Amino acid sequence: MVPLVTIVGSGRVGTEIAKHILINDLADVVLIDIDPNKVRGEALDLTHMVAMLGIDRDVKPSTDYRDMSGSDVVVISAGIPRSPGMTREQLIYSNAGIVYNICKSISEYCPKAVVIIVTNPVDALTFIAWKATGFERERVMGFGSMLDSARMRSVIAKKLGVRVSKVSALVMGEHGEAMVCMFRYSYVDGTPVIALLSSEDMEEIRRTVRGLGAEIIRLRGYSSTHAPGVGVAMLVRAVLRDEKRVYPVTAILDGEYGYRGIPLAVPAVIGRRGIEKIIELELTDDERKELEQAAKKIVETIKQALPPELCADIALA
Ligand code: NAD
Repeated sequence: MVPLVTIVGSGRVGTEIAKHILINDLADVVLIDIDPNKVRGEALDLTHMVAMLGIDRDVKPSTDYRDMSGSDVVVISAGIPRSPGMTREQLIYSNAGIVYNICKSISEYCPKAVVIIVTNPVDALTFIAWKATGFERERVMGFGSMLDSARMRSVIAKKLGVRVSKVSALVMGEHGEAMVCMFRYSYVDGTPVIALLSSEDMEEIRRTVRGLGAEIIRLRGYSSTHAPGVGVAMLVRAVLRDEKRVYPVTAILDGEYGYRGIPLAVPAVIGRRGIEKIIELELTDDERKELEQAAKKIVETIKQALPPELCADIALA
């Protein structure tokens, strides 16, 4: 069977994701959008891209959710992005209904798919997607802290004057202001960065990483596309190829880190079944407190968007 990935929302981010899936020859792609001309135009351009490269992959444009049938993975990047000065949480009012309705269609037409949420606020929307699909928690994940971790990696490399390929960095918690930069679990060629950075350096890195999403919007007028495009394609590849890679995705916790029924960005093993294992790191009291702040903020955002009966089983530690 030819692997098939549906991307719902063929805007700036959705088409970047499609581009990297196709360039890496991972799957045929169905692009779905409410704007019929835009989705046909994007699909044509991507079709010519694979022709240019000589890659035998199909790109099908659609405005009909039934066309997602048979997809191995469905990515949701539909909805409103941030404008300058906006927080991601403010998007919940416009994007919760969009994601909820798309997920109802996924459960109808694609009951076996792994679902990846990209639309912001990504953590709260991963919870809504989990509720709306009714899928087991392993098959619904958010893009989580992958982008923030890449940003932290880049900022640490610059600060220390080392190659970015030698740095690994981890951000957990929320894809937003309450993100938790995990310096104790970040390394340069095996050396923990906490041995190389002062506490002032770490505070500066934390502040910089938190502000980078808004900085991109301020500079060019719209939010990031290249890094999430390639990052989501990496996540899709880990599922399709059963790679068992560890990525910090938004997962619905079920006892891990002391939370139940809460979406939080945590490192997890990603394979054909979706989230195959959540990795529980030992945390210091300070890290635990920061994670608690992230969890509280996500729960507040969910409660703004969902009727109380759907939030009944959300419990903080
Ligand atoms: P965009 O405006 O370029 O694209 C959004 C697309 O969604 C548009 O083409 C629109 O027509 C479509 N759409 C809207 N409602 C739809 C529906 N019901 N069904 C199908 N399509 C629908 O925006 P973008 O820059 O591509 O950003 C998309 C989302 O991704 C935003 O919410 C943004 O905040 C988020 N994002 C998340 C991350 C992350 O790290 N999680 C990174 C970047 C962007």
